[in-house]
Parts: sequence; C-alpha cells; structure tokens
Amino acid sequence: MKTETKTIPFFDYPHLYLFQKEKLDQIIQETLSRGAYILQKDLQEFEDNLAAFLKVKHVIGVANGTDGLIMLLRAAGIGPGDEVIFPSHTFVATASAIYFVGAGGVPVECGADHLIEPISVEKAITSKTKAIIPVQLNGRTCNMDPILALARKYNLKIVEDSAQALGSSFKGRFAGTFGAGGMFSFYPAKTLGCFGDGGAVVTNDDSIAEQLHLARDHGRDAAGDVVAWGINSRLDNLQAAILNFYLKQYPQSIQRRREIAGIYNENLKEISDLVLPPAPGSDPDHFDIFQNYEIESSYRDTLKKFLEENGVRTLLQWGGSAVHQFKELGFKQNLPITDELTARFMLLPMNLSLTDEDVIYICDQIKRFYEKNL
Ligand SMILES: *Cc1c(COP(=O)(O)O)cnc(C)c1O
Repeated sequence: MKTETKTIPFFDYPHLYLFQKEKLDQIIQETLSRGAYILQKDLQEFEDNLAAFLKVKHVIGVANGTDGLIMLLRAAGIGPGDEVIFPSHTFVATASAIYFVGAGGVPVECGADHLIEPISVEKAITSKTKAIIPVQLNGRTCNMDPILALARKYNLKIVEDSAQALGSSFKGRFAGTFGAGGMFSFYPAKTLGCFGDGGAVVTNDDSIAEQLHLARDHGRDAAGDVVAWGINSRLDNLQAAILNFYLKQYPQSIQRRREIAGIYNENLKEISDLVLPPAPGSDPDHFDIFQNYEIESSYRDTLKKFLEENGVRTLLQWGGSAVHQFKELGFKQNLPITDELTARFMLLPMNLSLTDEDVIYICDQIKRFYEKNL
C-alpha cells in the first residue's frame, strides 16, 4: 500500500495569525489607533476575564512567564539561603527563577505521569527547604494531594509553574490556584499564545497580588509613587488585546486538543512499546488540556528519525535534557529515573492547525515503524 507523504510541522507559527487574520488585524488596528500601548484597558480586561475563567481573585499580566515566576517567588518570601524543590523534567526557566531570587534549586525525580514525584520530594526536604514548585507539565495538573500534604507537614509554600496548564484541573481545582500563586506563559506555542512574549501570575493572596503589581512596574503604586523595588515586566497592552480575543475561544481550543489526544490514543493504544498520556476523560480527578502530547518509546531516536523521513516533525522538550543534566548549571543530584525517562520522551504534534487526517497520518506512520522494526 502506497500512501501519499504529508509534511506536518511540529508547530505552524504563521497559522496562529493567519487562520483568523481579519479579526486580528481589526483588533491590532483598533488598539494601536487608540494609542493604547502600556497598562491600558485591554490589559485590565484580559486580567479580569482570565480571573473569571480561573475563578481566582487576582491576575497580574507580566512580560513573560519566567519573570512572573521570579516575581512570584520573591513575593512569596523566597530568597537567599532558602531551598526550593522542583522536578528536573521541566524547562530551565523553573530553575532560573529560583536562581534569580538567590535561592538554591533542588531538582527531584518525575513519576510515571511525567510530573513531580512526591516520594523524591520528601527525601529532598531539609531544614532550609521553603517551597515546592510543582510543574503542571504538558497540560496536566499533578495529583496535588500528596504535594499539599507535604507542604502542610513541613510548612512549605507551594508556588506553581503552571505555564503549560491553563485551564487544566485536579479534583475541580485549576492549575495555578493551589498555593501561594501560579504562573502562566503566553509564548506563541503555548495553548493560549500571543504574538511574542507574555505571561501572568495568578493568586488568591491580596499581599502577593499587591507586591506583583508593584514589582512589574518599577515599584510604583496607583498614584505613581515609588513604594518598593520593582522592574519593568508588564504585559503589553496590544498582546493583552490579542489574548482577550483568543481567551473567548479558549474552551473550544481545549476541546479540540482533547479530541486530537483521543484520536492519538485510539490509534496508538495497541502498540505495546508506546507509553501514551492518559486518554482525555479516563480519570475523573484530572482535566487535561494537552499543551503537549508526550509519549515514551524504547526506540525514541529511530522512531523520531523515521517520522522525520516521512514528513512528521516531532520534538524533544528542551532539546532532550532534564535540568540537572545541564553541566554548566552545577547540579550535583543523581536522578536515575529522570535520566532513563528523558531518553524515552518525545512530543508528537499537538496544535490547532492539525486536521483529523493529519493525526491519523501520524499514527499510521508510527504503526508502520513498529511493523517494520519489531
Ligand atoms: C514556557 C514555560 C516557561 C517559561 O515561560 P516564558 O513565558 O517563555 O518565560 C516556564 N516553565 C515551563 C514549564 C514552560 O513550559
């Protein structure tokens, strides 16, 4: 059987703009014509709308997710001398944020769900530990019960890196709302992406919200008085206007991602070597938004190459490295489970430009690979 070869990019960046170009052009022109660039009503509206969506008290738009996490850790009182536990299977930004508040990052293992592993968290706790950063990776929220129990037992703060999990929930509670606060990123390839960098911090804590408002705008209060140290890390008003537009259709975007995950699951579940993310709806405690579709394969590198030869672009998150593996960052921890899993992880395309036929084509190529190789 000869099938036609398709070319499927991992993420189609022009599509983000082109598929609704007319409406976006209108928004951009209208916003720019008002001269509304910095801290204007579109930002306020986006913050209000996102707060309503997440049922959280405060949303503070910031320049990017990494800045948001730095300012959030600082506002939560994390600083020099403190240790912060985070999963090594994450973007380096999680660790950089800890570094830039002057604290020590302690990477730990991830579990079968690819998320922070509670037993290794408990083992890493010392008298200096001040906080845990669960990373709500790939659009799935951790099983927060054991993490919250550890936080209570050892009196630790929870600060969430929920950059990949906007709208994801565990037992009905949204990622980003479990502890002192959460961070989101609006990097273009994120589930809610803007046309550049953008981010937000969410919190139910009035004091943290107040500190974030000051921190992102040079320490200035509503009257313009400098009342604290701050930096310049505001979410651009134009990006906020675009995000407002995309937020309105966000529930449908999530629905489509869950549909795609369902097609992958249906077509790939018989391949015994593959480990797939849980199918949408398979666990009532979790609502996953599928920022990524991260699979495991024992033949990862040859499968990746085979797919590439057949027009399918896949991705290894962060170049295929866990944070503790970056030699120059100086981590001394030994994380054998993460090392082993990192060699198996791979992302299949997961985005709104994929058609059902694209997803089925990708699955067919994976099936062909396993028929040939096993
Ligand atoms: C994207 C991402 C970040 C950083 O967000 P930026 O907006 O790019 O700064 C942090 N952590 C994780 C897990 C991410 O995926």
